[in-house]
Amino acid sequence: MSNRLYLSPPHMGGREQFFVQQAFDTNWVSPAGPNIQGFEADLEQYLAEGVSVAALSSGTAAIHLALIILGVKAGDEVICSTFTFSGSCNPIVYQGATPVFIDSEADTWNMSPEFLRIGIKDRIAKTGNKPKAIILVHLYGMPSKMEELLSIAREFEIPVIEDAAEALGSTYKGQKCGTFGDFGILSFNGNKIITTSGGGALVSKSHQWIEKARFLATQARDPAPHYQHSEIGYNYRLSNISAGIGRGQMEVLDDRVSQRRQVFMWYKMHLPSTLLTLSEEPSDAYSNRWLSTALLQKGLNPEELRQKLEKSNIETRPLWKPMHLQPVFNKHPYYGGGVSKELFNTGICLPSGSAMGQEDVKKVVDLLSS
Ligand SMILES: *Cc1c(COP(=O)(O)O)cnc(C)c1O
Repeated sequence: MSNRLYLSPPHMGGREQFFVQQAFDTNWVSPAGPNIQGFEADLEQYLAEGVSVAALSSGTAAIHLALIILGVKAGDEVICSTFTFSGSCNPIVYQGATPVFIDSEADTWNMSPEFLRIGIKDRIAKTGNKPKAIILVHLYGMPSKMEELLSIAREFEIPVIEDAAEALGSTYKGQKCGTFGDFGILSFNGNKIITTSGGGALVSKSHQWIEKARFLATQARDPAPHYQHSEIGYNYRLSNISAGIGRGQMEVLDDRVSQRRQVFMWYKMHLPSTLLTLSEEPSDAYSNRWLSTALLQKGLNPEELRQKLEKSNIETRPLWKPMHLQPVFNKHPYYGGGVSKELFNTGICLPSGSAMGQEDVKKVVDLLSS
């Protein structure tokens, strides 16, 4: 399977093993140690001045801790983009709260500001309570319309958790994704733009909240020589080994963004628009192009195309199936039309790995066009 073209395989930079070896040499083979602080410092420096970062075991864990710190409890409602991966909204249910799903807008595929406003107003009218938080996602690396979305969130005074799991390196009006919300979250799962094999991070301008996240992520131990607990804790810290991989990956993050954007440009150059339409970047947005995605022209069957490419050992995948259409979530409130559903029915994710060359892209394009 070594010559298989995957959607988004890991791409090591070279120095990852150096940091991992250091962890072995100093015996910091544990969920504490210098690589964790080093990785957090690298991320803080990369993202923005004044942000704090807690390195965690996954992006899903980061969303869970953000909800806990914002006080989300059983019976509350939390708004979430419907067009996303289930990791965005599962933690709402961990808290016993109810997800309220908002449809996409057609241009960025991200949360529609129009339906966000409609949804908030209707929830207040129906329940007498405001939703406790808004989880909005920058899907496939494409920045959401942050100005519009944040102004609605501020108007109703609802905190924002920005799910930037797919958008590390993307910017909106020159500011890095993940630094706009009250909290931002990142993922370093194996398929993301950089990886720690598995991992995530919580980002905030509030140093106090990040300290609280580190405390909760290490079983909420009170300062005492014995094990003393006055809160429920979690085992959500990143290991010092994984953080070593992360430090090596941070050295090549900017290259990975350029390479993914290059792969997208090659698709744009070679793909006939009579076949597929590639998503456009709004003028104030800079996408890391985590995945190159496209919509099929009418009459083309996405599943037929997927099977055809699979025969040549090329991995493609439908776009995310909206959460409000998932069997486990389809009883929850939803505000929108049919935008995300239509995207799911007509879209495709193309191989987008940062190690791909132009000849790989041409191979995919030739098969798609044949
Ligand atoms: C990957 C991903 C997550 C979850 O991250 P994990 O590290 O896999 O838990 C959350 N949201 C989105 C949009 C993702 O793509």
